[in-house]
Amino acid sequence: MRTGFVAGDALRMLAGTRSSVLPRSRRIPAAQAAAMVPTVRRDGLDGGLLAYDGQLIDDARLVVAVARTAAQHGARILTRVSAVDATGTSVRLVDQLSGESLTVTARAVINATGVWAGDVDPSITLRPSRGTHLVFDAMSFGNPTAALTIPIPGEINRFVFAMPEQLGRVYLGLTDEDAPGPVPDVPEPTPGEISFLLDTVNTALGTALHRDDVKGAYAGLRPLIDSGSARPGRSRGPRTCPANTP
Ligand SMILES: Cc1cc2nc3c(=O)[nH]c(=O)nc-3n(C[C@H](O)[C@H](O)[C@H](O)COP(=O)(O)OP(=O)(O)OC[C@H]3O[C@@H](n4cnc5c(N)ncnc54)[C@H](O)[C@@H]3O)c2cc1C
Repeated sequence: MRTGFVAGDALRMLAGTRSSVLPRSRRIPAAQAAAMVPTVRRDGLDGGLLAYDGQLIDDARLVVAVARTAAQHGARILTRVSAVDATGTSVRLVDQLSGESLTVTARAVINATGVWAGDVDPSITLRPSRGTHLVFDAMSFGNPTAALTIPIPGEINRFVFAMPEQLGRVYLGLTDEDAPGPVPDVPEPTPGEISFLLDTVNTALGTALHRDDVKGAYAGLRPLIDSGSARPGRSRGPRTCPANTP
């Protein structure tokens, strides 16, 4: 863990971000760790490792900000328009309101449709992976002021995270489940993923959390390219990202 955090510090320095903006990681006493995450298990607690990270609060606003900035630089932004039949140099656009379509040609076409990329260009084959988060009242974790990083038992570089969020919530995630087949509009968390997240977080808590404590759950699909490999180990049950931004 410490090595990972130090590597993060190195990346921060390489990016030219000062420690006054994003503080460097450090070891903290057990009492401070328990003050930050009051429900953490105390027996055997020797101290904590504290590291800082960035959180994206509103991804929709970020997309709008990027689009507005692009427009400022001369880009033409078309909303409610669906891209179909993309090639490297052309794409057909369909207005979702009027049904009108037009074909645009360009030196290069970038297909940035995420997990739907294969619908726009059938030469792309994706093998999505589902990531599930659970939502709790922050009170269930004693109103923590830091995220708790929980190693998954039996794994050396996989973790589950309990992250304080806005509006008095804690998000607990996340899984990494092979999700082949058609891409659903709204991926659903499975009971197995929910049990896995509860079992993992409970290894680090003084008082276990149960299904009744779960206020909600949501899932997303990572747009992973299907490399044709068997992805060994992926079918054995839920796993988590080594590093995650929710
Ligand atoms: C649970 C989870 C955890 C993740 N964790 C990490 C992480 O820790 N670190 C990391 O780097 N990445 C992570 N990712 C991956 C990261 O979120 C995605 O790679 C990233 O969001 C992809 O961005 P994008 O803009 O390419 O696609 P998206 O954000 O998926 O955007 C695609 C857009 O294209 C639109 N679209 C789809 N089809 C069409 C069409 N035919 N015409 C027009 N528009 C269309 C969609 O509506 C959508 O708005 C995670 C993803 C998930 C689901």
